[in-house]
This record gives sequence, C-alpha cells and structure tokens, in this order.
Amino acid sequence: MMIHSNEIKLHKVYFWERSFLAATILLFIWLTGFSWSTIGQSSQTGLKVVLINVNHGDSILLQSSKGENVLIDAGYPDSGTLDYLKQHKINHLNMLVATHGHEDHIGGIPEVLRSIKVDKFIENGQVLDSTYYLELEKALKETGVYRKTVKTGDRIPFGDLTFEVWNPSKARPDVVNNNSIVLFLEVGKVRFLFTGDIEKPIEERLIKSNRNLHMDILKVAHHAGNTSSSSAFLEAIKPSVAVYSASNFFPGFPDEDILDRLRLAGAKVYGTNFNGNITITTDGHTFIVTPEKGEPLIPFN
Ligand SMILES: [Zn+2]
Repeated sequence: MMIHSNEIKLHKVYFWERSFLAATILLFIWLTGFSWSTIGQSSQTGLKVVLINVNHGDSILLQSSKGENVLIDAGYPDSGTLDYLKQHKINHLNMLVATHGHEDHIGGIPEVLRSIKVDKFIENGQVLDSTYYLELEKALKETGVYRKTVKTGDRIPFGDLTFEVWNPSKARPDVVNNNSIVLFLEVGKVRFLFTGDIEKPIEERLIKSNRNLHMDILKVAHHAGNTSSSSAFLEAIKPSVAVYSASNFFPGFPDEDILDRLRLAGAKVYGTNFNGNITITTDGHTFIVTPEKGEPLIPFN
C-alpha cells in the first residue's frame, strides 16, 4: 500500500507528540511521586509533604513542585531523617525549621546541617541547657547557616507559597512545648497546619484569635498525646485528615482517646507508628494521602 508523504509526516508528528506527552507525564509522576488528579490544569505550585517515620519525634519534609525543600524538625539523632534525605537525593534544603528545642525535634538537626546545604535555619528563640541544644548550637556555628527567629504574625516565603507563623507570640522561658513554632500553609485551596508540640493553652489562644482554623490536613500536636487536641480545638479545625508522628514505645503517645477524638471530629487518622512514612500530595485543588503501609483509622459516624 502506498502512503502519501504528508501522511507519513503526520504519522511522525503524531508519534512524537504522543511520545513527548507520555514522557512529560511520566517525568511529572516520577518527580512528584504520585498521580496528580488535575495534570496540566493549573500553574499552581504543588506540594508534597512527607511525615518521615522517625519513631517518637517529628520530621516533616515539604517539597514544592518547583523544587524547593523545607524540613520541619529532624527527630532524635540517627532516627532516620538524614537517611531519608540521602535516599531521595535531597542535597539542598531552602529552609530548616526547629519548632522547639526538645530532643525528639532537634536531635537529628546537627547531622543534617553537617551533611546537606541549608540556606536558612528558623527557630523560636528559646535557648535551652540540654546537651542536644548545645550540639545544635555547635553545628549551627560550624556551618555558619543563616539563622532567623520568628514569632506570630511573621510570614516566611517558600517559593510561590508563604508560611504564616501562628505561634509563639512571645517565647516564654518557663515553657518549651508551648513555644513551638506553629506554621499555617495554604496551597491553592488546600490548608495545612503544622503544630509542633503545642498544648491546650496555645490551642485556646488560636481559637480566640478569630482566624479561620478549618484545615484539610492537621499535623496533630505532641505526637497525639492527651496534653493537646482538645475537643474545642478539633471542632474548630475540622480536619479531613489528621497525621501524627509517634512510636509504639512511649506510653500515651499516641493516646487512644485522642485518636478516637480525632475520628469523632471527622478526620481520617494516619500515624507513623502504624503507617510508616506518610506522604500527602496536593496540586492546590485536591490532595492524596499515601501511607507506606496499612490503612488509616476512619472517622466515626
Ligand atoms: Zn515532641
């Protein structure tokens, strides 16, 4: 059969268009690690959030679809943060946040600072007397990373996105958990709250602040312990998804009653002790939660 040359050309163009499109989609999925539900519909910056399983402690990696990386806390020393970053070939952090000075949040930061280029270190300004805090100070001095203390009302740029700082208003020397940096981040219509280890007094202050507290995704405060996650706070947040970081070895973290309370508030609940690394991806319109293993606890009706 004879094929006209124009037809051959058209076939070739069609083939290359299709190949290019397929390659682009594959590259996109590979880069983001998930299937976006609205591929190509928006130039909105997307976001991938990973609760890295560091047992008892927090370590949260945020990666924008434009290649910026932020790490919030890094668990205890040698608890898996640096391994995760290396495995995923992350050799640059635009920002590293220490929510507060407890060892299950800052213990792993020195090894990250010494191994990976960090542009900016964000802290709450509270100086502690622990060996973990002194080690952090030493690593910060060694690496000379730029440091910034933040407080309520500050805004921190993250590529095209912006973190709003909702705590601490003023760091008090007599508390540690309640000095945690709380970060609100909105990606398009999808709202995240990262709470560090805040407890009920700060939750009450947030309720009284008249902010819109409704969140799609709540990083549950203080490893789902019962010092936090009051019913009033959860009623205000009404999270679709609640994620916490904890081990099976610290009694009360997570607290079974708090897990029930989250489910009563209508949240699907994922925890690193059950689900391993927990990945949340959003394109600003919708979001997907991908646990490394297992299923979430589902809301009570
Ligand atoms: Zn903690």
